[in-house]
Amino acid sequence: MWAEERGPVAVEQIVAARDRRKTARRRMIADHGLPVVCLTLVSPGPVKWWSWTERVFGVAEAELRRAFGDRGWMVREWEDQRPTTGPEAQIAVNASPWEIKRVLLKLEDTHLLGRLWDMDVITTDGLVLDRAKIGIRPRRCLVCTTDADTCTRTDAHPDDALLKAVDQILARAEATTGVLR
Ligand SMILES: [Zn+2]
Repeated sequence: MWAEERGPVAVEQIVAARDRRKTARRRMIADHGLPVVCLTLVSPGPVKWWSWTERVFGVAEAELRRAFGDRGWMVREWEDQRPTTGPEAQIAVNASPWEIKRVLLKLEDTHLLGRLWDMDVITTDGLVLDRAKIGIRPRRCLVCTTDADTCTRTDAHPDDALLKAVDQILARAEATTGVLR
């Protein structure tokens, strides 16, 4: 079983982390004039650091590095942080935001760990590109067939059901590729 590595966080801490990322992003966009990729993990419940967290985040960063490198996209800045609210990275990439978004969607939707990654791209106008704008269906909930945002908003599932779904994703990834060992 996975162990807790850091204690629970309050909603206010999550909101503060989001605000801090926003401020950092504004500075990055001003410095580089490029879209910024924001990577965080999908981690239900108040505990955001488990014994799997660092590894799942590391695989996501490695996949991003490879995807950008393969396409010859220059990374101008790569900032990562590890607050109690969970690991996060923000990356200024020299490519068109929609091209980046397509790459991120493919990683989220096809990698064995992709469902545990939240990969956004923010344009130089500060706009977050989303699936709906290119007619791609929203992400499905971890537990049921409804879209994830709806279930989060309505608090549709208890944390233990969501964490069990996360465990299943991790177990499958481990059994298939040994990526977590
Ligand atoms: Zn659901």
